[in-house]
Amino acid sequence: MSEHDFVIVGAGTAGCVLAARLSESGRHSVLLLEAGGSDRSPWLQVPIGYGRTFRDPRFNWMYETEPDPALGGRAAFCPRGKVLGGSGAINAMVYVRGQRADFDDWAAAGNPGWSYREVLPYFRKSEDYDGMESAYHGRGGPMHVRNIDADAHPLCQAFIASCESQGVPHNADFNGAEGEGAGLWQLTIRHGLRVSTGSAYLRPARGRPNLQVLTRAHATRVLFEGSAAAGVCYRRGGVLATATARREVIVAAGAINSPQLLQLSGIGDAALLGPLGIPVVRSLPAVGLGLQDHLAVSYYYRSRVPTLNDELRPLAGKLRAVLRYAFGRRGPLALSVNQAGAFLRSRPTLGRANLHVYFNPLSYTEGAAGRRRGMTRPDPYPAFLMSFNSCRPTSRGSVTIRSPDPSVAPAIRTHYLSTPEDIADVYEGARVLRRIAGALPLAAVIESEFIPGPAVSGDKGVLADFRARAASVYHASCTCRMGPDPKTAVVDARLRVHGVGRLRIADASVFPQLTSGNTNATTVMVAEKAADLIMAD
Ligand SMILES: Cc1cc2nc3c(=O)[nH]c(=O)nc-3n(C[C@H](O)[C@H](O)[C@H](O)COP(=O)(O)OP(=O)(O)OC[C@H]3O[C@@H](n4cnc5c(N)ncnc54)[C@H](O)[C@@H]3O)c2cc1C
Repeated sequence: MSEHDFVIVGAGTAGCVLAARLSESGRHSVLLLEAGGSDRSPWLQVPIGYGRTFRDPRFNWMYETEPDPALGGRAAFCPRGKVLGGSGAINAMVYVRGQRADFDDWAAAGNPGWSYREVLPYFRKSEDYDGMESAYHGRGGPMHVRNIDADAHPLCQAFIASCESQGVPHNADFNGAEGEGAGLWQLTIRHGLRVSTGSAYLRPARGRPNLQVLTRAHATRVLFEGSAAAGVCYRRGGVLATATARREVIVAAGAINSPQLLQLSGIGDAALLGPLGIPVVRSLPAVGLGLQDHLAVSYYYRSRVPTLNDELRPLAGKLRAVLRYAFGRRGPLALSVNQAGAFLRSRPTLGRANLHVYFNPLSYTEGAAGRRRGMTRPDPYPAFLMSFNSCRPTSRGSVTIRSPDPSVAPAIRTHYLSTPEDIADVYEGARVLRRIAGALPLAAVIESEFIPGPAVSGDKGVLADFRARAASVYHASCTCRMGPDPKTAVVDARLRVHGVGRLRIADASVFPQLTSGNTNATTVMVAEKAADLIMAD
């Protein structure tokens, strides 16, 4: 048995921030438990390694969702990082905070302290932006955020110009004053290497005598004294051990595993826990409910001009890319394949952007479902893809344990497309994507749309195709959501589990609603703010 001030479960995007911040002053002892292992593999450093780690069980929980009738009964792949840095160590490195109104909505839902004005300082604090410091961007923080203007594939500019011709203005900084428009993504990459919170926050803190990091340590349940958390039970090397927390236990196991750990520990819906023989410590029916995610579909275009396929597919191109990377950390291996995109309104009457569009200057139709993600083996002809998803889907799914055994994966029910709004966004997304593809200069580059192809048309056809091909973009969140009412929420605005002492949750599971863009930057912000709340309390 070991004793600490704080025990943190999960060294993912949020957990690494928490461990670094809570141990910073040297006054508190911190234990960080991570089920996965080290993040030193080269595939976790080189940005293009994303294509490799996507289905690699050494770094990935590799969950499958339950078959979803909305997807024609398909089960969806649900990768989650299982390594120091968590999902942020295997993600696509796109740095997008979401819309200002997303956070104002969080605050308006009864969560004081979470408006855009109040969370912006935490985004700035975490950031080491490679552009100018401003009211929106910080410099000198742990997370390096880079602009990719000099290195993006030239086709990205054609995409941006076509968007402009369709009334979507160019946006040079999605994380600045205005989040709408078309432009290049900012990426968490520094000198050609991935930046995760594992590398940016945890690595520099590892030498602190008051911080202990245990990898391959799988937390199996939270321990209680009465109705307050007292520690964590975990399995390491086949042995069960206990770590007690003098101050708090902080669960940061991510949107799938945080609700799982709570349920295993007796916090959740009594109707779920009872039949599994788990004694109820605190009945909180919202644990695991509320799952939200972005569901996207890709349209593929044959190109009359070279794309990244021509650089990454042929052996000579691969060698050139490796040499450029080895002697200067430049070229396609040093970037994400997600390079440009847009946030736009599909109808002018909307108050804010409802669609998120991705432009990737390559295509990988063959390898998409394979062990690798095909990025290192794109299609053998010039082609690219565009994808879209609804910014703020209203469908909600769930995560529930099937067994009291912590090694059994929970059931993930996605309930995609269960509202008319989400279906309307599918119709409109397809129309918008094809309008952009049909506009100059992109139209002049496109030879043909080969998936789904012109035969798929009309709302009915587009929806059927979406159901057959759409996939998650891996932004699972909201499964332990924040809110004032213990009947519908799991944590309060200070991230304390309702009705349980000395237990907080701080990761993507606490989002009250999914934000309009990618979720990593917001998870970092949540953890930065959580560290301040914990210290203040
Ligand atoms: C393939 C992929 C691509 C993505 N692309 C992007 C992108 O480009 N941009 C973006 O902004 N977002 C992206 N995301 C989403 C983003 O990375 C996540 O939203 C974010 O990392 C979530 O952080 P978290 O701290 O909530 O959870 P995680 O980072 O998943 O961390 C949870 C950690 O807890 C550990 N853990 C779980 N259970 C236990 C247990 N019982 N005991 C001990 N440890 C445990 C896990 O192993 C993991 O390390 C992507 C995600 C994936 C999977």
